[in-house]
Formats: sequence, structure tokens, C-alpha cells
Amino acid sequence: MLIHPLYMPSDPQTEKNSANTFDAIVIGSGISGGWAAKELCQKGLKTLVLERGRQVQHVKDYPTALSNPWDLPHRGHLPREMRQKNPVVSRCYAFDEATAHFFVKDEEHPYQQEKPFDWIRGYQVGGKSLIWARQTQRWSRFEFENPHRDGYAVAWPIGYEDLAHWYAHVERFAGISGNADGLETLPDGEFLPPWEMNVVEKAMAKAIMNRYEDRHVVIGRCAHLTQPREEHLAQGRARCQARNLCYRGCPYGAYFSSNAATLPAAARTGLLSLQPDSVVHSILYDAQTQRAAGVKVIDRLTKEVRHYYASIIFVNAATENTNLILLNSRSERFPNGLGNDNGLLGTHIAFHNYRGSLTATMPGYLQHYYYGRRPTAVMLPNFRNVYRHDQAFFGGYMSFYTATRTSWNRQVEGEQLGQTLKLKSHSQGPGRCT
Ligand SMILES: Cc1cc2nc3c(=O)[nH]c(=O)nc-3n(C[C@H](O)[C@H](O)[C@H](O)COP(=O)(O)OP(=O)(O)OC[C@H]3O[C@@H](n4cnc5c(N)ncnc54)[C@H](O)[C@@H]3O)c2cc1C
Repeated sequence: MLIHPLYMPSDPQTEKNSANTFDAIVIGSGISGGWAAKELCQKGLKTLVLERGRQVQHVKDYPTALSNPWDLPHRGHLPREMRQKNPVVSRCYAFDEATAHFFVKDEEHPYQQEKPFDWIRGYQVGGKSLIWARQTQRWSRFEFENPHRDGYAVAWPIGYEDLAHWYAHVERFAGISGNADGLETLPDGEFLPPWEMNVVEKAMAKAIMNRYEDRHVVIGRCAHLTQPREEHLAQGRARCQARNLCYRGCPYGAYFSSNAATLPAAARTGLLSLQPDSVVHSILYDAQTQRAAGVKVIDRLTKEVRHYYASIIFVNAATENTNLILLNSRSERFPNGLGNDNGLLGTHIAFHNYRGSLTATMPGYLQHYYYGRRPTAVMLPNFRNVYRHDQAFFGGYMSFYTATRTSWNRQVEGEQLGQTLKLKSHSQGPGRCT
């Protein structure tokens, strides 16, 4: 993958002053940046969040959230011209006429795919927290232990037990719906009430679990307020309306996004400065203290260069851009990028393998009716290579299914599907590398 070099105007000689110096700087306002901002501000730190994309204000900037199909020129479908101009992002199932404004277009930020790698990006305040599928599973001890056990990774320095209370901390604030299923492969969390499987999904689940001892079927665990608690109402968020139009932004704040939840919480402390349209170019390294001292920013609109300073810098620009910023951060001490003594920065990046799909028709069950559009699917946690390495590949995978009245006939290009199915699967969880 070739990343286009950033525009590099000459640096200003910016002195540190009270206007450009903070306790902490967070780069990126997506899922992880929003969380970093909230936690830092709530600990009393004056925090600057730098976001390369435009401002997206919760509710106000969700222009299609309440649109009906007939309000949209192509009833919500992606027009052919847009698909042709944006072949990569068009492969993302969530990219359509009603959501396109939250996705980076291929035509605006092109890159060369030397190997198949669909880089789906959301450059805006909120990042991909506006367009994620909201599936929120905990890792189990097997995700921590098995890569080392099976000899394809070094041992994790922490285990599941070290993270469990942090998972709970996030779940309580974000609001995760799910069922306590008691599975070793998918630890339970602090859940809001689960969504319900429909009758066909229940029949499928029963058939799978009757036939295979090691396979479990659970309702997807997702970041939706099925029954908001006081804490969520205090955030200004409301119950999920089961509209399943989430990728347009939720005017009820019913699914977790930085815009609805973490950034407002950070702002309420009075310690947050949020600066959109600010592309972080690199991290400034202070050779005397041997520490990161600040960041160099290019204004997206004016191309003006500015420096900001802090003793804590969180890089939350998602996988590729985080690597890019670190690679750009060259100094005498780090000629190949900050912290890149081993030369591994920007390598070994995995693709979020998905899109192998099958559909089938189940006759009958027509007498059942369900209100609303449930915003999550049914899930089979990983059952491969769990207790021992017994497959011809490493790692595992999760599968999801849904049953609907109308056919869910998502268009998948043959070549892409072939590639996906042929891929040797590594341990995957949503969110690790998209
Ligand atoms: C369609 C889709 C569905 C998904 N579904 C799921 C799911 O169900 N469950 C799950 O766990 N994960 C899911 N993911 C993945 C999830 O969205 C990401 O893992 C998550 O958003 C990563 O958080 P982040 O903070 O690292 O990055 P992001 O949320 O992408 O935020 C990064 C932010 O940094 C900004 N930025 C980038 N470069 C710079 C720079 N140089 N200077 C300043 N700002 C910069 C970006 O504009 C962006 O706002 C999905 C992703 C997609 C695309």
C-alpha cells in the first residue's frame, strides 16, 4: 500500500505559551480518542483533541437520520456513478447514499492496493464511531494465550483478568446489550437487556447446538441502549428505537459513538479543547528530555502549520494513520520514525477479513411477527483451535447470521468473495484492524 506523502510546508518557530500548551494531547476523535479525552478530562487534565476531519455535532450534523427512502434521490441506494468513482469504499456494506458523508471517498484520498486491502476510513469528529457496526465482544483468555501457545506470536504481557474490570468500566458507560451466556470463549459483561432472536434464528441456533457440541449461538452483544440506565439518560441518550438506520448517526444517541457519549462527557468537565480540521503531521521529540514534547499540525483548510505541546500524547488516529504519524516523526534519535528501532512500524498490518457469506431460504414460520428492526445479528463465537491447535490454520473466527422475511441479498463481487473464503483465518474480532 502506498501512502501519499503529506504536504510539508516549512515549520514555524512556535514558542510554547499558555494557548498552545496542554496537560494532554489526543490525536483523533474516533472511538479510542473519544475515550482517551473523556478519561483524561475527568481526571482533571486540560486536554486538546486534534481531529483531521470536519466537525460533526451530535444530532445537528446527521442530515439523513430522519429521512425516508422517498426523501433520497436513489431511495438510499448507491448510484452507479458513485460506485464507479469509489470502488473500494463501495465494497463496505454500510456505504450508501444516506451514509456516504461519513466515509472517506476513494476519489478524494486515493491509494494503491498492492495487495487486497480495503481501507475504510471516517475522517470527521467521531471518526468511525459513527459508522461502526456496534458489535462489542470481550476477548476471552484464549485470545490472549493461544497465539503464544501455538507459536505464532510472543506472549501477551497481560491476560484477560487484567482487563476484565476495564471492560466493565467501558460497558457500564457505553451501554452494551447482551445475554449472560456463561461461555468460556466469550466472557459475559455488564449487560443491558439483550435483543431477542426471531423464531427462525432460534431454530437455526437449536439445530447448530444439537449437532455440534463445541459450537454455541448467542444474540449479538452490541452498543445499543435497549434499556438506558440513569447514567445513560444523564449523558442525554435515549432508548434504541430499533430503526436500524444507525450508520446515518443516531439522533437518539442510542448507540455508542464518540459524538453522543464520550466527547460530550469530556466537554462537560470544561477541560476539553476540540480542534477539527487539524491534521497531525508528526510528534515533536525533545532530545534533551528524551521524551515526546508536542505535535506538529497542518490546518486542513488553510495549510497553516502549528505546534502544540503537552507531556502526555495519545495517538488514536486508527491503525494506519497512527503508524503514519509515528513514521513521520523523525529525529536524530529516531531516524526511521518514533519508537521504530526495530523497523517494524507500518508493517504486519492485518485486514479485517469478512464478507464470506451464504444465504438460504427457510420455508414456513410465516405466522410470526416482530416489531422494529433489530440492530444486531446472531453470533457464533470462535470454536476453532480453542482448547488445542487442531486445525490446519492458526487462530479462529466468529460468524454471524440473521433471518429476515425479505431476502438479504447483499451484492458481493465474485472475486472478492473468493479471496475472502480462501484466506487463512487468523484470530479476528471486529475492530481489530478495520
Ligand atoms: C463499517 C465498519 C463496521 C465496523 N464494525 C465494528 C464492530 O461491529 N465492532 C467493532 O469493535 N469494530 C467495528 N469496526 C471497527 C471500528 O470502527 C474501529 O476499530 C474503531 O473505530 C477504531 O477506533 P480508533 O479510535 O482507533 O479509530 P477511528 O474511530 O477511525 O478514529 C480515528 C480518528 O483519527 C482521525 N485521524 C486520522 N489521522 C489523523 C491525523 N493525522 N491527525 C488528526 N486526526 C487524525 C480520523 O479522522 C478519525 O476521526 C467497524 C469499522 C467499520 C468501517
